[in-house]
Amino acid sequence: MHIYAYGFPRLGRKREFKTAIESFWSGRINQDQLIEYMENIEKERIHTYKKYVDFFPLGEFTYYDNLFDTALIFGVYRVKNLSDYFEYARGKKALELKKYFNTNYHYLVPQIPSHKKFYLSWNKPLFYLNNFFSFHSQPLYIIGPYTFLKLSRAQGNFKSLIYQLSQVYKLLLEKLYTKGAKLIHLEEPAFVLDISYPERKIIIDVYRNLLKTKVRVNLITYYESVDFLKSLYDLPFHALSLDFVAGINNLALLKKYGFPKDKHLICGVVDGRGVRRSDIFKKVKLVENIKKIAHIDSEKIIIAPSCPLFHLPLTLEDESRLDEKIKSRISFAQERLYELSLIKKVFFGETKEAEVWYREDGKSSFKKRDKEFATLTWEESRIKERKIAQKTKLSLPLFPTTTIGSFPQDKQLRKIRRDYRKGNISLGSYKSFIKDKIEKLIRFQEKIGLDVLVHGEFERSDMVEFFAQNLGGFLTTDNGWVISYGTRVYRPPIIYEEVKRITPLTVEEISYAQKLTLKPVKGIITGPITIVAWSYNLRDLPSYAIAFELASALNQEAKELVEKGIKIIQIDEPAFKEFSPLKKAKRDFYFSWAVRAFNITTKLPKEVQVHTHMCYSQFQDIIKWLVKMNFDVITIETAREGAQIIDHFKKVRFKKSIGPGVWDIHSRYPASKKSIESILEKAIGVFGKDRVWVNPDCGLKTRDWPEVELSLQRMVEVAKKYRKKFQQFQCR
Ligand code: GLN
Ligand code: ZN
Repeated sequence: MHIYAYGFPRLGRKREFKTAIESFWSGRINQDQLIEYMENIEKERIHTYKKYVDFFPLGEFTYYDNLFDTALIFGVYRVKNLSDYFEYARGKKALELKKYFNTNYHYLVPQIPSHKKFYLSWNKPLFYLNNFFSFHSQPLYIIGPYTFLKLSRAQGNFKSLIYQLSQVYKLLLEKLYTKGAKLIHLEEPAFVLDISYPERKIIIDVYRNLLKTKVRVNLITYYESVDFLKSLYDLPFHALSLDFVAGINNLALLKKYGFPKDKHLICGVVDGRGVRRSDIFKKVKLVENIKKIAHIDSEKIIIAPSCPLFHLPLTLEDESRLDEKIKSRISFAQERLYELSLIKKVFFGETKEAEVWYREDGKSSFKKRDKEFATLTWEESRIKERKIAQKTKLSLPLFPTTTIGSFPQDKQLRKIRRDYRKGNISLGSYKSFIKDKIEKLIRFQEKIGLDVLVHGEFERSDMVEFFAQNLGGFLTTDNGWVISYGTRVYRPPIIYEEVKRITPLTVEEISYAQKLTLKPVKGIITGPITIVAWSYNLRDLPSYAIAFELASALNQEAKELVEKGIKIIQIDEPAFKEFSPLKKAKRDFYFSWAVRAFNITTKLPKEVQVHTHMCYSQFQDIIKWLVKMNFDVITIETAREGAQIIDHFKKVRFKKSIGPGVWDIHSRYPASKKSIESILEKAIGVFGKDRVWVNPDCGLKTRDWPEVELSLQRMVEVAKKYRKKFQQFQCR
């Protein structure tokens, strides 16, 4: 039995990856030095693989993102040097960032014009083959043509694009073979999506041609099951890799169709997305079961993680603050490799280490809860009645102006926060620093003339981590960093026991802000779905059970804010859409519990205006669920791509109010009045004049004050202009 692993984090134990690239950006090191640093990081990574596993891909290392690198390999873009390379990631030529499937990793979206002629522009795998030739029997990493095109923004005919592209893939494989490559690690995670029959046919056709080369190819899939698995059996792949953690249906497919004798099966059995430690004996049973139901010989079975390991922090070894008892329930990436080695040992009769690795942590009441929650239904919000109740309480003008919540978090704030964490300054002085920032922000917003104010979220380093640090049931790590995109990292919190609100979370800051002004201050809370989506779950409970616990805890917070005089509550749910399952068939169940959790959170007197904020989403798919959610106003990201998102609302009965973002805060440039007006016009056209709010796309945490001031001023000016226009119109 062999062990196969891939996607091991490239960040480095001390985040060397981030430091090196950012030093290059700021000019502290030059290109040659950066290359040297990166090679060392890669050597270290390979070293870790070698310690535990038999096979790992060469060339999966990237300086920014592998989808973008694939676009470079096939000539979609050409770069002159590394500075030019990073221009596409974050400079003037910056490509759009998008979530990778339903994970929290963002990739750069290649733009492929119709009639693009692909060609082999950069043989990246060959570079790694030459540089690490002593590993030439290891598989060489590439992303497959289907996934590459599916995740890109490709114009024109998909069929003709993929046919042409696959010719170039074939050329690449042939070249690699002549240079001594033995094996290819080819990832096609998009194979787990709902794929239409005509498209399946195209895939089979493309691969039949592609696999005419002599080099052997391992097909790697993950995140779900591959519904058309059977059709892949006839293709001459050397091995197929399937996810048996998230894609449990793969088991049923194997049972139904067996497995071809000529192939190896790479069984993804240890979880690459969650951190619950594996019960090694259960995993051994799973592998045994796979072997049995599909009649596979032992020597054809390979064990692996369920998906690439970069969704996990690198290692538990650097978490000295964590309680040993809790630590013994967790595995990060390196521990997953160790688990694979334990599974192999058990197969060879060595059980000792496996016995001490995992302890049962008590039974949960999952079964009972499952039933209880499945029968819950939501209440339709009664928009009209709520509107009347809120009108007199808030007396807002037409086209009310507001922001999404956070304001620039500058160096000084980050330093004070660090000092406070290290114990260099007292809680008292930290709090008074924050209060000072809040007061200044209230005056700033009043001066600009915004209608609904915010407290600025200065107490929050991160919208999820802050809540995790203050709610019961969560733990946070010191070094559990995971890449979100490029060099951007975050530390997902870990839910390890029942989630409870033990103290008020943001009541002090928000009610302080409200006392300073006569204008309404929105109370902003991160929603239950986003918190579960961006945390790890150690408990033997499904996400929805935890979302309901969170919903009750957050509802208590909202209620207390209302008691303290807050008239508007905003629940942020940027992960609402992204957390939905990859398979359509599972989505109704997900959305019904997600809506329910949201509605528990927002169970408040009807005169309290409820807002929600979601970032960029393909709303056309979820409007039917938005209608069932208990909110009065939704603010969304709109400014990109000519505000097309607004059109999706044309065809549906959507009665709530909406704040389409008029300023793309991901760009470094302030919003122009013209662009604000054009989005507003478009929104008025679809929603009428009475339901439209004016606000930026998202929070302003990462922006600088000058562009914030300018853009908000323009926003308010435009809102006033339209107010006048429509009020005059009304008088006549
Ligand atoms: N209220 C949050 C902020 O303004 C929302 C962030 C988000 O949607 N990602 O920062
Ligand atoms: Zn947002």
